[in-house]
Amino acid sequence: MYENFGRASLADICDDWVIFRNLEPVDKRVPGLKQSFYDMELRSEQIPRKQDRDYAKAAVWFVNKIQQVRGVRTPVGELLFLGDTLFNDGQAFINMIDVSGWRGACFIGAERLDQAPATHVEQATISIANRWSALVDWLHSLKALGFQLDANTAVVIDIDKTAIGAKGRNDKVIDRARLAGIYRTMNAVLGDDFDQTRYEEHYNELNRARYHLLTADNQDYLAYICMVLNTGIISIDEIVREVESKSLDNFEQFIRWVDSRMMINPTAGEFLREVHEAVNGSVRIGDPTPFKRFRRQEFISTMEHMGNMPDTASVQELLENEITITEEVYQLALWLKERQCEILCLSDKPDEASRPHARVSPDLAPLHRAQTHRVGVDVRAALRNE
Ligand SMILES: [Mg+2]
Repeated sequence: MYENFGRASLADICDDWVIFRNLEPVDKRVPGLKQSFYDMELRSEQIPRKQDRDYAKAAVWFVNKIQQVRGVRTPVGELLFLGDTLFNDGQAFINMIDVSGWRGACFIGAERLDQAPATHVEQATISIANRWSALVDWLHSLKALGFQLDANTAVVIDIDKTAIGAKGRNDKVIDRARLAGIYRTMNAVLGDDFDQTRYEEHYNELNRARYHLLTADNQDYLAYICMVLNTGIISIDEIVREVESKSLDNFEQFIRWVDSRMMINPTAGEFLREVHEAVNGSVRIGDPTPFKRFRRQEFISTMEHMGNMPDTASVQELLENEITITEEVYQLALWLKERQCEILCLSDKPDEASRPHARVSPDLAPLHRAQTHRVGVDVRAALRNE
């Protein structure tokens, strides 16, 4: 049922209307958070997380600005939101509707071929589907509800596991690329001392909810903590003990702990120092992506998983080894774009994991310009009938 539709890039559907975690648009005609936080009615230039209300304020501001820049006089009045997680994407959507007063609908997809096709609706406006191809029925229902789907419509599309690496179909490759980035960083920092098995054990333990006070569920924090554990200057037993006794309940405290251990044990912390200083500096200024070195490697390994398979590869091989564009999302987005809807790819993915770095990866294209295969179900015939 899946087909390979050849190579394309996300830019085909969204041009440079792409905004990653730092909330600095790729298309510079619209300024970003740093310059405009005051105008967005935010208290500071601190980067909000996707489920925060401040994130929605920024997102709504961007949608309105883009509408101006693309020269559409009709103000935005409708919002369509496509994502793969109810917690992040669903909440961002609800908040955006709340902030803007627009009419809206949200589609949350995750392929579950072991289940019969089903879509259920939450809070009247969020449709949760176990087939990506259900996007067409969803569109059909929007038309029946009187959505205009024209120049007054903004379409916000999540990137990871939605526009690319479809959840439940192709998302494992995104995770694998991130892991490859982590291991490459660990090998570069710790060299032969890096013990991948121990790293995985520590990661699996600390990735659990009971450690969320310490890790803030932040993958940069987790990678850093597991790296420290790998050097042996702090042990996992110590962490478990400190967390259980509630004497360790935030990441900054952990950084200070590492500081003092490095002081006692300067040689053991030798390899760690550079990363430690960098992470520490970023955390201090409130940067949610402090482990830059890891994210830059994640970007390289992500790009190595895009368009990497030959055109002759089977659909199965593509889905197992390449981060592909979700064909149903691609076709729907093109259909909406033709009707003059505003298309914006809005992603919580760190900028460092999505765009080249002048020194580390100068020859790579940004993620949304990477060519990779489009794979999925052909819904064009159904769209033509709409
Ligand atoms: Mg996602």
